[in-house]
Amino acid sequence: MEFAILANVLAKMEATKKRLELTQYLVELFQDTPNEVIARIVYLLQGKLRPDFEGVELGVAEKLAVRAIAKSSGMPIKKIESEYRKKGDLGNAATVILEQKTQTTFLAEDITVERVYDTLYKIASLEGSRSQDMKMKYISSLLNDATPIEASFILKILLGTLRLGIAENTVMDALAIAYTSSKENRKILERAYNVSSDLGQVAEIIANEGLDGITKFEVKLFNPIRPMLADRVKSESDAIEKMGKRFAAEYKLDGERVQLHISNEKVILFSRSLENITSYYPDIVEKIPNMINASEVILEAEAVAINEDTGEFLPFQELMHRRRKYKIEKAVTQYPITINFFDVLFHNGKSCLELPYEQRRKTLENIVKENDFAKYVPMEIVTNENEIEEVLENSINSGCEGLMLKMLDKPYQAGARGNYWLKLKREYRNELGDSLDLVVIGAFFGKGRRTGRYGTLLLATYDDDQDVFTSICKVGTGFTDEDLDQLYQILSNKVTIKKNPRIDSDMEADVWFEPELVLEVVASEITLSPIHKAARDTIRKNAGLALRFPKFTGKIRIEKTAEDASTNQEVITLYRGQKKISQDKSQV
Ligand code: AMP
Repeated sequence: MEFAILANVLAKMEATKKRLELTQYLVELFQDTPNEVIARIVYLLQGKLRPDFEGVELGVAEKLAVRAIAKSSGMPIKKIESEYRKKGDLGNAATVILEQKTQTTFLAEDITVERVYDTLYKIASLEGSRSQDMKMKYISSLLNDATPIEASFILKILLGTLRLGIAENTVMDALAIAYTSSKENRKILERAYNVSSDLGQVAEIIANEGLDGITKFEVKLFNPIRPMLADRVKSESDAIEKMGKRFAAEYKLDGERVQLHISNEKVILFSRSLENITSYYPDIVEKIPNMINASEVILEAEAVAINEDTGEFLPFQELMHRRRKYKIEKAVTQYPITINFFDVLFHNGKSCLELPYEQRRKTLENIVKENDFAKYVPMEIVTNENEIEEVLENSINSGCEGLMLKMLDKPYQAGARGNYWLKLKREYRNELGDSLDLVVIGAFFGKGRRTGRYGTLLLATYDDDQDVFTSICKVGTGFTDEDLDQLYQILSNKVTIKKNPRIDSDMEADVWFEPELVLEVVASEITLSPIHKAARDTIRKNAGLALRFPKFTGKIRIEKTAEDASTNQEVITLYRGQKKISQDKSQV
């Protein structure tokens, strides 16, 4: 397939933000795509080469790309850098530079999607001391044969700056229309995506096997399943109203969610955002297979740091020390954990997702043998407010965050946040008291004691409809000196020269970041704001929502990606809930 076809569609998509138009462009693109290339097209559209869980990173630095453009165009590096500063995007700068060149040379051959993909894959696989030179050689060989427009998109994919404003849902809408002629079939594609976390694979199956193939699509060992998520409830009585007469109350442990894929030969661990985290937990890999009574299984558990002397649970932050490349053995002894199982998703060749909770829990208890290291998450069946209150009390007293309430007769809904699971935290009972997980998008330099670090951070919610990050508050309280140092270290690697186009904010921050890091924040109230962009125009025209008196809780949510941050929809619900409480109060 000619790369020009893809490049032309990408150029049209960059020029619009309208979801309907974007979907239509994708449909046309898919209709022009041969089946054997569809998976690669879907990955490239997302600026990827493989599904996230495989961890294939392109890892090309801007400097290297500038050198490659210089080599291909014969222009001096200074000229390319100055064009880059003018355009704010290296891909677009390359178009201008290479347009000047094509007048004097001719293109050697058309480049294909296959060739671009293979070359990018080779670049991603290169390691070691000579890899930089090799990467440059590969990039400039592509640029030599590319038209200026093609070159710009090759560079954007390489540098991770391709921003089309399409979330997975838009791609699935377009796949459903292109291959089944009906957007309604999106739901069936979505199920396959939720159990495989691999949109390229889903596209390949719908293209080759049609609806029949995708309907039969099943869970596979070592293909992570998108986790089921919980809605919030504020009180025991709300929980009863939503859950009915009899349901499970599990402790909500404050650790890292781990999806364990285990066969006789190997163990792979995935995080909540489906990153492969096997190397951080050699203790799980070593011990768990001996405690499992099954040849193939996918389990879910919460890894929690503990005090080995007292057996107490320690806060989630302790697990940060495990996130390292080197000397992991030392971290394993210094920061011991227990692994606390709460679900089984696949067992000896069969999916367990469709089984009701009660049966999954029983299966789980038959599979895992408990000991000091491996446990089941404590669970009680509850039938009234007093019983919930009692389990909540016990959970908080043993260092947990609250409860996860689960309906007994419901399946595991991969990738969905719904009412079958609810979370109840102690603080939820005070007004907003609830915490939000927000993305750091910008910062303002500190003064006084904070000189040389970021004094105030600009935070955003995730608008999952538009796939953008909308500013919601500035936060400067709740940080210890140690937090400020740590955040400075993490964030200074994420600084961008220009504001990322997925950031929606009118603030004039001193620095902008790639929207990646998620922090937990509490606030006294949600208010309407003329400045901030979260849920803009939803409650009132020309107003967004903002947090009043926001405060950092001390938790850096390393296990969450920016797309896992609190959404505008969640903030709107909290805003409405808070209004309801104040109305109720004024009526008393
Ligand atoms: P939140 O991150 O506040 O939306 O809460 C959901 C997270 O709670 C999950 O991703 C798990 O990491 C964690 N968790 C702790 N205990 C449980 C449990 N018993 N069942 C499910 N998730 C749990």
